[in-house]
Amino acid sequence: MTPLTAHEAVTRYFHDAADLIHMDDGVREVLTSSYRELAVQLAIKRDSGETLVTRGYRVQHNAARGPYKGGVRYHPTADLDEVRALAALMSWKTALLDIPFGGAKGGVEIDPIPLSSSEKQRLTRRFVSSIHHIIGEYRDIPAPDVNTDAQTMAWMLDAYGSMHGYTPAIVTGKPVALGGAPGREQATGRGCVYVLEAWAQQEGRDLENATVAIQGFGNVGSWAARELVRLGAKVVAVADAGGGVHRGDGLDVEALLAVSKETGTVAKAADTDGVDAITNEELLALDVDVLLPAALGQVITGANADEIKAKVVLEAANYPVTPEGDKVLVDAGVTVIPDILANAGGVTGSYFEWSMNIQQFTWPEEQFNERLREKMVAAYEQVRARGDEFDVPMRQAAFVIGIERVAEAARLRGYV
Ligand code: NAD
Repeated sequence: MTPLTAHEAVTRYFHDAADLIHMDDGVREVLTSSYRELAVQLAIKRDSGETLVTRGYRVQHNAARGPYKGGVRYHPTADLDEVRALAALMSWKTALLDIPFGGAKGGVEIDPIPLSSSEKQRLTRRFVSSIHHIIGEYRDIPAPDVNTDAQTMAWMLDAYGSMHGYTPAIVTGKPVALGGAPGREQATGRGCVYVLEAWAQQEGRDLENATVAIQGFGNVGSWAARELVRLGAKVVAVADAGGGVHRGDGLDVEALLAVSKETGTVAKAADTDGVDAITNEELLALDVDVLLPAALGQVITGANADEIKAKVVLEAANYPVTPEGDKVLVDAGVTVIPDILANAGGVTGSYFEWSMNIQQFTWPEEQFNERLREKMVAAYEQVRARGDEFDVPMRQAAFVIGIERVAEAARLRGYV
């Protein structure tokens, strides 16, 4: 059987929830297609003088509840289908967290690792000049995602500002020195852990000494790791695109951060102080309490889901589990905390940052974190309540809440 594309898979999750609430076909048709999809050619001169040509995408899925919102990833596999899937997930996520945004996503088909900083800057500016007419602080607000960060947002802000004037709220996840919010960089990883804590409390489980394996040690994975260590959990394995490491008694997360910063991968920490090398596949199959996929999508599929031994899969990444994989996990009694809930701390923190920019004030980080926790826990409780009502797993319950809210807003506006 041909595997589902990312958009087909996300649409399958949509229909699983839509069936539960008997959503009619017309509404389904509106909500499973994007409002606007822009694909642009991006050409820049490399430092060597060679020309680099690639493609960039911005997909605006739905804005019934507020301006389009979603990150921009730089990755060789970023294509229209993937960006379309991720844009739809953003609509359900912003609705689930009840923040006044719609859903969008951006992608540039590029491996940015070999690019110099000035090449990345030229590419980012070219992308903004190609999409500037469809974004805006009340229209569509980009943010960081895979291989983009606060520096990328600073270039985007500057490129947009040079065309439209000073507009700090045009992007979120920017450096604090340019109007970023203290706490936003950490918000996705911390938000995941806040949800995990709420789950553990409800289930009467203790996170102290719980064993955790994390795939992906970028923004999300590394901040989740630090937060988990703060709670006394044992991060026993970490992997990134360069490979992974394992230590049964727990890894020294701060030391791993230093190795990753210096060498570009945690894999270089192997063979020191009881630390063994491990592959990404082995990491996913470890017998741990919590597995955090925090890298790319579709890593747990129908082909490997039966190897998962973790009790909880906390979906820090977007769409890390395919529908076939999800079925295997659910049948095996593995708790899956779905992406649109687990990683929603990022967009919730972005909402705080955007509101602060519009109103020209800043919260201290402690207040940011408290409000983040409140929002994440409230969403978690709603998902559990809805799950109990329908007797379904958290993914279906989270989708029901998200799609129902978007459908309601679309109906009130007269779209459906
Ligand atoms: P990042 O670029 O900071 O880090 C990505 C990490 O994944 C890196 O450690 C990289 O080495 C690793 N990785 C890449 N390819 C891999 C592979 N084939 N195998 C193993 N590891 C691999 O990105 P990020 O911002 O941390 O995003 C990670 C995930 O979280 C993505 O799915 C993203 O969509 C999702 N997410 C991010 C945010 C955010 O605020 N940054 C918010 C919500 C969801």
